[in-house]
Amino acid sequence: MSDTTPVLIFDDVRHRYGQAVAVDGLSLTVGVGEVVCLVGPSGCGKSTTLRLAAGLETLQHGRVSIGGRVVAGEGRSLPPEDRNTGMVFQDFALFPHLKVIDNVMFGVRGKDAADKRKRAERILDHVGMARYAQTFPHELSGGEQQRVALARALAPRPALMLLDEPFSGLDTQLRDSVRDDTLSILAEAGTPALLVTHDPREAMRMADRVAVMRSGRLAQVGPPADIYGAPASLFVARFFGHVNELRGTVQANSVETPLGRLPTTEPALGAAVTVGIRNEGLFLGDTGVPATVLSARVLGPYSVVELVLADGTTVTAHVPGTAPPGPDDKVNVDFDRAQAFVFEEE
Ligand code: ADP
Repeated sequence: MSDTTPVLIFDDVRHRYGQAVAVDGLSLTVGVGEVVCLVGPSGCGKSTTLRLAAGLETLQHGRVSIGGRVVAGEGRSLPPEDRNTGMVFQDFALFPHLKVIDNVMFGVRGKDAADKRKRAERILDHVGMARYAQTFPHELSGGEQQRVALARALAPRPALMLLDEPFSGLDTQLRDSVRDDTLSILAEAGTPALLVTHDPREAMRMADRVAVMRSGRLAQVGPPADIYGAPASLFVARFFGHVNELRGTVQANSVETPLGRLPTTEPALGAAVTVGIRNEGLFLGDTGVPATVLSARVLGPYSVVELVLADGTTVTAHVPGTAPPGPDDKVNVDFDRAQAFVFEEE
């Protein structure tokens, strides 16, 4: 395996439960040192995909390779313990009757108990949990339990980490710091990861690349900035935040929308399109079209203003500051052409 061979490769993976298709021809890689977040609405097939990599589900079609080896497919199906992966689940799955050190030792391979203990101590130190070695899981906070689960999964030096909604069980207050800690622990260990989440913000925050899934297929794969800034479909755009959707028809190199003209060269002349503009892509000022404020809410970092245009179209804008215009105020609303996306109607 060369240094650039992906650590995990899904190749045309399909999976059904009875007649129901859960994963439908998925091809995806996780590269060396990379964190890929598989994100999508509930039931789109994320967990099944992860379980197929882990060997918790038997592969029905396609191929899965880990660390340069086919682990499932081509007539082969290695058991989970032979796949060189570490797993962390939402509920952490720590053994309640074992102390922290024994939970972590459980993950360490080898026969020599002293060596195993040393390795477990080192990895606990690595995740900042050395002083809790003699503690039982129930005596720890959620964030601490998550670290122990991570330590146990990292103990055998897996080629790849598989994480299924690993932060869902934590309080929102704690989640961001645990997410950041997890990333730095993975980076220090040099362990790539496939992380499943239903939370678009978590995916944006954690991922080197985001893989957006819809109905068993990949809707788009790319760095967070591309997924957010250049969504491939209205589905992807909507998944990452509210989008104002304006219908129009492509005329000579532009689309006429209720908010004004948008230059475009992509869809063919005459094509029916939806122009999607995120709330922060709209702004109030001296340019644009007249609108009336319906409502405004101050959220702190910005305010959310609902507007109605002359033709009855309603749009939502995020405006900076804590002093937005009030209901019935007359304003002008314009949009940033760079933050407007044109989608052909599905
Ligand atoms: P996600 O993780 O995105 O929520 P899953 O991979 O858990 O999605 O599920 C994908 C689809 O497969 C869903 O429609 C779900 O109901 C179905 N499914 C998942 N596990 C099973 C199972 N063990 N038996 C039958 N259907 C299942």
